[in-house]
Amino acid sequence: MRKINKIIIHCSATKEGQNFTTDDIDRWHKKRGFAKIGYHFVIYLDGSVHKGRDISEVGAHVQGQNSNSIGICYIGGLDVNGKSKDTRTDAQKTSLVKLVAELKAQFPNTTILGHRDYSPDLNGNGIIEPWEWMKDCPCFDVSKEL
Ligand SMILES: [Zn+2]
Repeated sequence: MRKINKIIIHCSATKEGQNFTTDDIDRWHKKRGFAKIGYHFVIYLDGSVHKGRDISEVGAHVQGQNSNSIGICYIGGLDVNGKSKDTRTDAQKTSLVKLVAELKAQFPNTTILGHRDYSPDLNGNGIIEPWEWMKDCPCFDVSKEL
């Protein structure tokens, strides 16, 4: 097993209330040139957890952070107009907490952050501030919740 020290949370950047599957993401990621779906886990609107890549495999979800991380994606992240929004259903929130707890038990000493927290610290003050986010993904403050 490779060394895991980070769990990184994503959204699928799809509109609120719309269902997508690991097969859809697999297709999108192949179109972007990845071998297959880049995330290790995907959480559907109903809270069900689906496997993408095996956790033993390096993912493809945050540039420069893939080798030691696990990527989890919830379906959603945009409102009906396509603007960033925390669209997680209660079922998704519950499943995310449970999944992260299971992974933390398996891989102690992991840092849990959102994709946007890995944006470059442009002014070098040690804090990734909202204006520095390259994208809003996953559209909520992971450090406050997980
Ligand atoms: Zn992301």
